[in-house]
Amino acid sequence: MMAPSMEYDVVVIGGGVVGTFAALAASRSGEFTAVIDGNGIMGGAASRSAGVVTVQLDDERDVLLVRRSIELLTSVSRRALIRTGFLQIGREDLLEDSIRSMSSAGIAYEVLDAGEVRERWPGIEIGEEELAVYTSEDLSVEPGVLASECRSFLASQGVTMYNEPVRSFRVHDSEVISAVLNGGVEVGGSEFILSAGPWNRSILRGLGVELDTKVIICYAYRFETGVELTIPSFSDEVLHSYWRRWGTELIGGGYHAELADEPDLMPRAPPQEFVEGSRALLMSRVSMAIPSYSGHTSGPCEITPDWRPYLGRLDRIRNFTLCGGLRGYGLMRGPALGSMTYDLLKSGNIGADLDDYDPERLIR
Ligand SMILES: Cc1cc2nc3c(=O)[nH]c(=O)nc-3n(C[C@H](O)[C@H](O)[C@H](O)COP(=O)(O)OP(=O)(O)OC[C@H]3O[C@@H](n4cnc5c(N)ncnc54)[C@H](O)[C@@H]3O)c2cc1C
Repeated sequence: MMAPSMEYDVVVIGGGVVGTFAALAASRSGEFTAVIDGNGIMGGAASRSAGVVTVQLDDERDVLLVRRSIELLTSVSRRALIRTGFLQIGREDLLEDSIRSMSSAGIAYEVLDAGEVRERWPGIEIGEEELAVYTSEDLSVEPGVLASECRSFLASQGVTMYNEPVRSFRVHDSEVISAVLNGGVEVGGSEFILSAGPWNRSILRGLGVELDTKVIICYAYRFETGVELTIPSFSDEVLHSYWRRWGTELIGGGYHAELADEPDLMPRAPPQEFVEGSRALLMSRVSMAIPSYSGHTSGPCEITPDWRPYLGRLDRIRNFTLCGGLRGYGLMRGPALGSMTYDLLKSGNIGADLDDYDPERLIR
């Protein structure tokens, strides 16, 4: 058997949000760490994401994940983040679940009536019978800038980055010995983390493992307003859209998505009705001249049948830990889940009850 060209403590396959923060956690713990990604650090869905990060979610566990992600993001980034805060607007019954989950997670928030919202942010449109929930710590993230900051941070931590995709694996006695890259280089390791998001399924297929996940293509839109914005990032819970501000732009959209057979990063033009639908949603919540469309991003996201992420080890490959299934909420939960993936690999215990994240539930 040929020896791999390098031997690492931890080899991370897929340097998206999850993989980047798993590698950071490993290297911060003194592990000799490598990340493999043919598209570069955060070159997959991460760099195409809308960049909304908010604790205002319906599941308490998700709220805690985002809170931890905000700490992790601010620990690596200086230029990619603005603490815009976040305003969730809707009828009282539509805001109840996230208020309940934030209360039990110990997150500070304010509930404001329509008059208070108009007084504080005259640019926001809100109906007389509606309420808004404000959280001050939430972020607007510019993903391209974050990718370059994470690349530098990983390099400064001594993490090796391989810019080629994994083609196959060498496996011996139920353990992965090495990942074989497209050009034939073998990267050996004691432990492997699989964090290639929507590509996990095809990578696992190469190991004879069938993962029951699906791929959706999501879109985000940028609209130029021509004025320096001071409103918080916000969501409309009645008509369903998410937006963040960055300088003079508003970035986000409705929850439009399309199913796909396999993930790819080919730029796709969104259906015209998606763009116009999102502009209409935006205009229903901001009082300003019609913003001009300045572009879009698209990319693949991975969904599981029960909508929960997966994080855990595989029974049939002992040194393989995987994490994925983050849907369109991976930029905000991925840093925490990536860091927990390394903790799980190291200690077998992450101090939280995550039995229902077990990836074995998705193996066919
Ligand atoms: C248009 C759009 C808008 C979004 N908006 C938001 C938002 O506002 N907020 C939010 O929280 N989330 C958002 N998301 C979702 C978020 O981007 C994803 O949930 C997140 O990127 C998933 O992280 P990941 O690390 O699992 O996967 P990815 O970020 O996709 O990373 C997977 C990595 O694996 C690599 N890879 C693939 N094959 C191989 C291989 N063979 N070998 C090695 N590496 C490989 C890929 O190149 C990629 O870099 C959005 C997504 C899109 C597409």
